[in-house]
Amino acid sequence: MKEPEFTMRQDADFRELLLLLPKTEIHLHLEALATVETIWSLMQKYNIHYDGVETKEDLVKKFQIKTLNEFIFVFINIVQNSFKEEKDFMLLLADAGEYLKNNNIVYAEIFFAPTKFLQAGFKYYKIAETLTSGAYAIKQKYGVDIRFLIDVSRTFGAENAMKNLKALLKFRTQAIIGIGLGGSESAGPAKDYAKVYELARKNQLRTVAHCGEDLNAFSIWDSIEHLKMERVGHGTSAFQDEKLLDFLAENQMPIEVCPTSNIFTKKFVQKIENHPVRSFFDKGLNVTINSDDPTLFSTSLIDEYMLLYKSGVFSKEEIFKLIKNNIYATFLPIQEKNAIWQENLALIESKTA
Ligand SMILES: [Zn+2]
Repeated sequence: MKEPEFTMRQDADFRELLLLLPKTEIHLHLEALATVETIWSLMQKYNIHYDGVETKEDLVKKFQIKTLNEFIFVFINIVQNSFKEEKDFMLLLADAGEYLKNNNIVYAEIFFAPTKFLQAGFKYYKIAETLTSGAYAIKQKYGVDIRFLIDVSRTFGAENAMKNLKALLKFRTQAIIGIGLGGSESAGPAKDYAKVYELARKNQLRTVAHCGEDLNAFSIWDSIEHLKMERVGHGTSAFQDEKLLDFLAENQMPIEVCPTSNIFTKKFVQKIENHPVRSFFDKGLNVTINSDDPTLFSTSLIDEYMLLYKSGVFSKEEIFKLIKNNIYATFLPIQEKNAIWQENLALIESKTA
């Protein structure tokens, strides 16, 4: 298939086709899927008051986030503080179900960071139970499969990360398949977490890690060397190091690029046209596109693909390849990856003939 074969010329048509394709997403945070409705209903339920939030309209305004500081404020002070018991997460899972359905994402691997909640007295086994029954409910309602990666977190240190992992190991469920390392990248070097990742691997957990989102390329090398994770989360700063790019290309290690999120944090990228994602793709890296924190960044997986298409970073044909990469970068069994991709191929062929 070559680009001129496409009969669709309008952006709206391409968006419609993207929506039709059964997609996967592998870098997404559950808490960042909380809608205004969810937070507002929890504020009502628990009679919670936040400064400057008297009405639902005030909350809508707070959710119109424009800067990183606003994001951090809303995430830490409002979103995380509104959940008071484990079953409140069912609301979050309902939001996740809606998001996935609206984007026609048929399978997603979603991060959940338990630390803040465990510190507030939540029980890990109850969280795990809620996540697992929530995933089951979403499967029943929308036919969408969800698996979770527990973000053991860098922000609170290695001891806390190990505690999170041990809780996970003590209460394993089918829906929770691995761990991630989110939080503040500058809080400590990857080697501090080597033992956590080693224990996770020994117990057949899948492993991923955020790196190169906030720190230079050395942080990606560090994570690969010490954590031996299976995918690179963000990896934006990889552009600084040719050897690293060669390594990533040779090993076809998937890289979870989150364009809007990277522009939001403004660490290495100011605008989409300058995102290194194009050079990653040209160098043969296994590039996947993801939304990271869709509700709080007012984006979605479809929006991310459209942003890359409309700004001329990728052609339609290349976006199909990115969709394929994402499917094959999941932790699904190979037959299931093949089935999802075959469905895509059939749709692409029928719509572009
Ligand atoms: Zn992330």
